[in-house]
Amino acid sequence: MFDSSPYDVVIVGGGVAGRSAGTFTARHGLDTAICNAGSPILRRNAHIENFPGFPAGVNPRLLLDMMAEGADRAGCERYEAEVTRVETEDGGFVVETAAGDSTRTEYVVAASKNTVDYLDPIDGVGIVSRGKEFVDVDEGGRTGVDGLYAAGRIAEKPHQAVVAAGHGAEVAVSILEDDDRPFYHDWVAPDRYFTGRGRDLPPGCEEIGEEERRRREEESLETMREHFERRHPDEPEQHPSVTEED
Ligand SMILES: Cc1cc2nc3c(=O)[nH]c(=O)nc-3n(C[C@H](O)[C@H](O)[C@H](O)COP(=O)(O)OP(=O)(O)OC[C@H]3O[C@@H](n4cnc5c(N)ncnc54)[C@H](O)[C@@H]3O)c2cc1C
Repeated sequence: MFDSSPYDVVIVGGGVAGRSAGTFTARHGLDTAICNAGSPILRRNAHIENFPGFPAGVNPRLLLDMMAEGADRAGCERYEAEVTRVETEDGGFVVETAAGDSTRTEYVVAASKNTVDYLDPIDGVGIVSRGKEFVDVDEGGRTGVDGLYAAGRIAEKPHQAVVAAGHGAEVAVSILEDDDRPFYHDWVAPDRYFTGRGRDLPPGCEEIGEEERRRREEESLETMREHFERRHPDEPEQHPSVTEED
């Protein structure tokens, strides 16, 4: 199933945290796979009104689609696959799926909300049980096991989409910094912003001229027009224990 193997990063869970983490690692050129099985919890939301950048709110299923497209454009490979087992091997990890596929990777990001059983083979992962299961991490999402990180709700972050997405990005930056890219910023700056002052471009930064800026802006306008042209076809997903009204 996996197109390219081994990976630098395998992300388990393709909700907002996983899609955001993958966007950052792939933009920096790390071979990144996102494995997701089941629905991101945000698909249950009726209309999200506190994700910054959308003054009148936005359809959360559209938001998820746009985040997936962003991850794809950054170079992520996304798979519909349930991860059933992750174990350490030769300084990295082997990731196995329910379909029997496996791949090697240097880094793993658990972004699976409250599912942690696939981490059982790894010694030293702190699992916190509070009715649901979470993974114990430091501020940057590090679990204490080299190369294993957790992002979003599974890392006990507040149950808010922008926080989970932001934490996904933060964990990706932790990986890049731990992978020897100190002071990493994924920034696009105007031409000469750094070099015009005699400074080297910091890791992850890019300078673009006015022509290129306008080209990117046009592409962005066109992409957003396509996404917002019509209503999203999918309805909110109901909680599984709510029964049908007659
Ligand atoms: C009804 C409702 C309304 C909400 N409204 C808002 C709101 O208005 N504003 C707001 O900020 N937040 C809202 N939230 C909360 C917000 O949706 C979550 O906090 C956020 O989306 C969590 O993101 P996540 O990426 O951590 O988890 P998720 O989006 O749940 O992503 C985890 C993904 O991992 C998958 N997965 C699990 N195990 C595996 C495995 N072994 N292998 C592969 N994949 C796996 C899951 O199926 C899922 O797709 C709402 C939540 C609900 C339920």
